[in-house]
Amino acid sequence: GDPSLDALIADLAVDVPDFPSPGVVFRDLTPVFADGPAFRRVVEGLAAPSLVDPRAAALAAGGAGPGYDLVVGVEARGFLLAAAVALDTGLGVVPVRKAGKLPRERLSADYSLEYGTATLEVHTDSIRPGQRVLVVDDVLATGGTLAAAITLVEGLGGIVTAVSVVVELAALGGRQRIAPHTVHSLWST
Ligand code: AMP
Repeated sequence: GDPSLDALIADLAVDVPDFPSPGVVFRDLTPVFADGPAFRRVVEGLAAPSLVDPRAAALAAGGAGPGYDLVVGVEARGFLLAAAVALDTGLGVVPVRKAGKLPRERLSADYSLEYGTATLEVHTDSIRPGQRVLVVDDVLATGGTLAAAITLVEGLGGIVTAVSVVVELAALGGRQRIAPHTVHSLWST
């Protein structure tokens, strides 16, 4: 039969030592995205966070649909995934972007990187208060990026009912950083 999804991702992903800086092992998922059947399974996996998130499950059980109304993707690899999840679920997609890219009124959130800080932004009219949101990115490392994205969604009154990533680097503690939100990861390593 088909390999399990985590085994498929692990098989196709490529570890790149010392990229982008010495000591970092970069998990390159571009071969996963380039494989049609694998990409489809990844997208469907990301779209089904209610399997692990009790809040999203309760919401999904209360009515039709996946437990969210909108998909938010984090620049840049999150865009590839979030757009596909949105199409798969029939929902809209909203970009959370690096500073300086969005043209209209925006909300900003700073977050810490290994060296220094960075800023993420979202258009203030892109999420309505009470909308239930799935936040998608490719890799959960320290969790700083997703924590900032969640802060932006909640800052606009959105309800983050689910967070999905392809790969979770478990030793870096990102899951703890974004608690009490539950992360749905397709491959934890
Ligand atoms: P963090 O904020 O530390 O959770 O980092 C997450 C962001 O950085 C994600 O958008 C990832 O795309 C990227 N990232 C961090 N560490 C890695 C890694 N080892 N391999 C691939 N991408 C990474």
